[in-house]
Amino acid sequence: METNHLTNSTIEPHLNNPLFLNALRSIDEGAALINCDPNVLARLKRPKRCIAVSVPVRMDDYSVKVFTGYRVQYNSTLGPYKGGVRYHQNVDMGEVVGLACLMTLKNSVMGLPYGGGKGGITVDPTKLSRTEKQNLTRRYTSEIGPFIGPSKDIPAPDVGTDSQTMAWMMDTFSQESGFSQPGVVTGKPVEIGGSLGRTGATGLGCIYVAEKAFEKKGKSLNGSRIVIQGFGNVGSHAALYAHERGAKILAVSDVSGGYFNGDGLNIPEMIAYAQKNKSLSGYGKGSNISNEELLQLDCDALMPCALENVITMSNAEKIKAKMIIEGANGPVTNEATKVLHKNGIFVIPDVIANGGGVVVSYFEWVQDIMSFFWDEDEINRRLQSIIVKAFETSFKMAQEKNVDMRSAAMAVAVQRLEKAMLLRGLYPR
Ligand code: NAD
Repeated sequence: METNHLTNSTIEPHLNNPLFLNALRSIDEGAALINCDPNVLARLKRPKRCIAVSVPVRMDDYSVKVFTGYRVQYNSTLGPYKGGVRYHQNVDMGEVVGLACLMTLKNSVMGLPYGGGKGGITVDPTKLSRTEKQNLTRRYTSEIGPFIGPSKDIPAPDVGTDSQTMAWMMDTFSQESGFSQPGVVTGKPVEIGGSLGRTGATGLGCIYVAEKAFEKKGKSLNGSRIVIQGFGNVGSHAALYAHERGAKILAVSDVSGGYFNGDGLNIPEMIAYAQKNKSLSGYGKGSNISNEELLQLDCDALMPCALENVITMSNAEKIKAKMIIEGANGPVTNEATKVLHKNGIFVIPDVIANGGGVVVSYFEWVQDIMSFFWDEDEINRRLQSIIVKAFETSFKMAQEKNVDMRSAAMAVAVQRLEKAMLLRGLYPR
């Protein structure tokens, strides 16, 4: 087998990745709040298994290019590893370790029966033809094949991958097993065992969380003023579901810039425009604002749903929103969260706010195992129940410990992992 396990000394240099170091700080913070067992804490701060594979691919010009792929299996105390596969030119082992660590924490906060994992290939997928992308995906799946499976490790889409990528992964794994195994990945097309409701799940989860957060503040989403950065999968669905519930969307932005209307934007029309034109560029009904101005608008809730590190120490004091709901992963830095908390701004962290995607991935896996599929109302009802419970548990922790919701969510995540690790014990003794 060509699969290459990195040894302890070869993995060490990769653990200096900033994303991973940030995740470790969060773990430390959560652990301190619950007086976590030091032996458990030491184990939580290291990935369990790091796999690096060579992925040779026949290109369209008949040459062969060798790419590098990764799968990090961070922790499996709570169940099989679960996490996406990223295709991006900046992917490296350190980044995948950091993302796998965050998945461990997110799955724990959401109360799912999953550990955490993540995968990726260092490649710019926009430079590949469809055939090259398919060849790359199938060989990568084959290389990590011995380590994945419905009860071992269940990949899903992430940046640069989509439902078609998952269809190829599922088919390759099934061909090599000799029978159909839909439960090996989630985020598949509905026709081959995907779940209804998966596409809009992350945006809908953000809105279920927003409703609860408004309720805690004695207010209602209906009639509130919302600002959203990013108009892709998460941002556009969040905008639509908020609009349908009577919120006024004052501004949205995408890579082309920001669009503002104090009376509220026409979201269904903007979604149709963005679908037709691939972005909001040229959308004429709304005044143009910069992304920086958008983040600083006076509103009831700001939802950053595009990139990481958009609210940092350089602009945290200028934020006028009354609450922030992190649709994207890592849009507000840890330091900036402290400033916002001090200024009375309620921040609902990514591990809760954008957990809707992995929750409906969990439903997809359950439906595949049962070979029994639910209707969309059932899926949305169950999503609401799980995400609201995660919000409430962290809210209670935040009140008890008098801390911000990010620290509280980390404490909840670490506490659940700690209990399970102590019950399972260390093998061998
Ligand atoms: P996407 O590619 O569909 O959309 C990204 C959006 O951000 C696009 O509208 C793009 O134009 C916009 N954008 C890019 N650069 C920008 C900039 N400089 N300023 C303003 N807007 C900019 O991606 P997505 O799936 O919506 O994911 C967005 C974020 O949510 C990522 O952090 C992702 O990791 C996170 N997330 C996504 C899911 C999911 O189910 N899709 C689940 C959990 C977390």
